[in-house]
Amino acid sequence: MHKKEQDVFDILFEAVSEAVIVVNEQQIITSVNSSTEKMFGYSQDELLNKPLEILIPKQYKPNHSKHVNSFLKAKQKRQMGKGRDLYGARKDNTVFPLEVGLNPFQVNNTQFVMALVVDISKRKHQELEILELNTKLERKVKERTKDLALKVDVLRSLNQQLDYENQKRLEAEQSAKEALQKERELGELKTKFLSLVSHEFKTPLSGILTSTILLAKYKLTEQQEKRDKHLKIINDKVHYLNNILNDFLSVEKLEKGKINYKFSTFKISKIVNEVVYNANTLLKQGQQINYPENIDEISLHQDEKIIELSLSNLVNNAIKYSPDDATIDIIINQDDTNTSITVKDNGMGIPKNDQKNIFKRYFRAQNALLNKGTGIGLNIVKNHLQNLGGSITFKSEEGTGSMFTILIPNKN
Ligand code: ADP
Repeated sequence: MHKKEQDVFDILFEAVSEAVIVVNEQQIITSVNSSTEKMFGYSQDELLNKPLEILIPKQYKPNHSKHVNSFLKAKQKRQMGKGRDLYGARKDNTVFPLEVGLNPFQVNNTQFVMALVVDISKRKHQELEILELNTKLERKVKERTKDLALKVDVLRSLNQQLDYENQKRLEAEQSAKEALQKERELGELKTKFLSLVSHEFKTPLSGILTSTILLAKYKLTEQQEKRDKHLKIINDKVHYLNNILNDFLSVEKLEKGKINYKFSTFKISKIVNEVVYNANTLLKQGQQINYPENIDEISLHQDEKIIELSLSNLVNNAIKYSPDDATIDIIINQDDTNTSITVKDNGMGIPKNDQKNIFKRYFRAQNALLNKGTGIGLNIVKNHLQNLGGSITFKSEEGTGSMFTILIPNKN
């Protein structure tokens, strides 16, 4: 190198802030700049002609010379220590992190390596700080998340508890409502019963009383006919009262689902005969019941008592709501599955407006209010028939007549 070039080189060599260290093939330091002195705490004299190892912390020494050797063979410029941390050792044995750029070169056939060393303690420190801050932040986020998750859990279980309590409250409300409704219906039934007892029972009871008083007066043998007449009156009225009481008991039983139906096979003619026979005592002047006589073949497997109760209800109504001399027809039909029983009259009929309510309990049509009655019968019949898989329907015209039809399965 010429003197001038040497000077320029020296100026540059000294000006750079990186430590510049030149080593030969034996890894002996041949040149260092003043930045090297500052960085490692050695004077130039203490470094020149010393092995490079002097600048390397003890624990890294065994591997280091191997790396340098393989590098010298490769003869390429490169960054040292890619992917791992590098450290330098100061004169006072303190260790610091560094970054090294290696530049191989040749002078007069001798191989050298110029190492540009940067002290990265500050950067590392900052990195560490950032890392710590990051870890702290992450920890905080985790704690907060955990905290939040806990709170969400608490809220969720609170919510579930509230839901549960709400559900329980609704159920309690519902059952209280149902109990109240039942109570109300029972109260209603009692009131109806009491008003019926006072209205419906009064007339027959005073009739019975009158007959008994009269009975006591007819003492002569030839007055037997009169006695019989009053005995019949008493008998009819007791039956009437008994029927009303039975109806009330039926309502209660139907209400509570306490009915056990008893099934048997029986001839429909047996029921028709019985109903017609019993109805005879109720017939008004000139009234007549027509019923089929060729029905001996028709049998049913059903609850006999309920079918009889249903038919007698229809026949009794037809009698009650028809005038003197009216004719009542009972018509029976049976196919493979069902039997229908129709009771037809030419009585007062049911006003159109009242027809939709006719099966409601206690309902009585406007035109029927002068006749005795409770409005329970048809409601009981409909409920029983429904329980037995049957039904009841009607057609009626006010002033013309009514036709009620029961449809019941042949077998239950
Ligand atoms: P009740 O006859 O005791 O009033 P029911 O339940 O048997 O009670 O009948 C309900 C109502 O239906 C009667 O009050 C009456 O208005 C009407 N009704 C029932 N059958 C007949 C009929 N054959 N003709 C006219 N109205 C009828």
